[in-house]
Amino acid sequence: MHLLELVVIVVAAVVAVSGAVVGAVVARRHRTLELEAPPEAPSAPTPPPVPEPPQAPPVPEPPSALPVPEAPPIPEAPPRPEVPPAPPAPLEAPPVPAQEALVGEAAVLERPRFRDRLGRARGLLAGYVGSVLSRDTIDEETWDELEEALIRADVGVATTTRLLEGLRAQVRQEGIRRPDALVEALKAGLKKALAQGDRSLHLEPGGPNVWLFVGVNGVGKTTTVGKVGMREARAGRHVVMAAGDTFRAAAVEQLGLWAARVEADLVRGAEGGDPGSVVFDAVVRAASRQADLVLADTAGRLHTKTNLMEELRKVRRIAERPPGQLSEVLLVIDATTGQNGLIQARQFTDAVGCTGVVLTKLDGTAKGGIALAIQVELGLPIKLVGLGEGAEDLVDFDPDEFVDAIFT
Ligand code: GDP
Repeated sequence: MHLLELVVIVVAAVVAVSGAVVGAVVARRHRTLELEAPPEAPSAPTPPPVPEPPQAPPVPEPPSALPVPEAPPIPEAPPRPEVPPAPPAPLEAPPVPAQEALVGEAAVLERPRFRDRLGRARGLLAGYVGSVLSRDTIDEETWDELEEALIRADVGVATTTRLLEGLRAQVRQEGIRRPDALVEALKAGLKKALAQGDRSLHLEPGGPNVWLFVGVNGVGKTTTVGKVGMREARAGRHVVMAAGDTFRAAAVEQLGLWAARVEADLVRGAEGGDPGSVVFDAVVRAASRQADLVLADTAGRLHTKTNLMEELRKVRRIAERPPGQLSEVLLVIDATTGQNGLIQARQFTDAVGCTGVVLTKLDGTAKGGIALAIQVELGLPIKLVGLGEGAEDLVDFDPDEFVDAIFT
């Protein structure tokens, strides 16, 4: 029993001692944890309470707050100082000045010179003319060269033949012997041929005038309507544009840009809608606003079974009705298409009776000779020519300047 008691005492003592030790350790550990807890926000010591940038609007920091920077909104604040209190205005501003700038620009448009834009046509003729001038006399080779030059410039065989027959007769009658005199006589003959007909654009007194623009797709009709609108607006006329090419969404948009640019009214219809009703609405709008002029774009190709020429005849009849008055039907021809342009001119003239031609893209071709073919074969005056894509690049056709520009 003694032994047993002794064992019990020893065990009790051991338990007591180890309990104390464990307790101490736990207590110590607990204290350690308490002490170590702060390190979780180790950065705290670095920037103590946010060094509040002056710009950051007073974030009412609870004065009591523990110095522990639990809220790290600090990093966001710094960038602010650089961002000035910019007003949001610039987002809306651009469109307006842009338009103003364009209209302003329109007021100082400079007319391009034929000579500067017809380098390709001049380049084609230069070789032939140089060769003719290099001879001492006028012989058959001279005539062959002149013929080839005119045909290559797309004057067309029939027109070339007529022009050269007239020139031969003149050479005989006037006793012209020198090649330079021959070239001068040719130039004079071309100028005379191109000067036939009435090249003015008509504006009749009374109700709004309507100028109809016709021609196949891609020749430059819509662009021409825009450029003519610019010219007329600059001349002080109130213009309404009719987006009659209802089959081409891009044409309607393009015309909308031009209308905004020249501050003209734009009348448009539903996509694929009736072009005649667009023109009619435009005339009614023009009359109600006492506008001077309706510039009507038309389709160059239809996406329905309707025949294009039939449709254009209908549009023409509508444009003729009061309160409007149709004073120009302008056929737009792309000079780069050469003799094809002559075929188009015949078709459109037969269908809608054109009053004149706008010859576009003369700047991009050596084949400006189509101007002569149209004038001589069809008796249609070239009224305007396109010498580039810019607003200022549509100019009155000047036969003298044209001929001088393509020779030398
Ligand atoms: P539309 O289908 O007849 O209405 O033709 P657009 O008006 O859409 O014109 C077709 C393209 O020809 C466009 O890229 C125009 O910028 C261009 N264009 C029109 N006129 C001229 C011009 O006189 N010179 C040049 N270089 N390009 C032109």
